[in-house]
Amino acid sequence: MEVCDGCSGINGRPVDVQRQEHLTLIGVAECNGTLVLEHYRCDKCRAVIARQFTGDSDERIWSVIETAH
Ligand SMILES: [Zn+2]
Repeated sequence: MEVCDGCSGINGRPVDVQRQEHLTLIGVAECNGTLVLEHYRCDKCRAVIARQFTGDSDERIWSVIETAH
């Protein structure tokens, strides 16, 4: 995976960790008015990162879901 240090550092962290400066919010998903997840794009390495707010504690994490080539 070609991701910058900021993205590799936040991958797998709990959602209550604040987002990095270089991440731009590109989309959100809601279910019944509850925020389910946010998608961010990294301005540095162009990776797409998901921030999931629902599910078990080990699912409520930041995760890199797509990397630029
Ligand atoms: Zn990055």
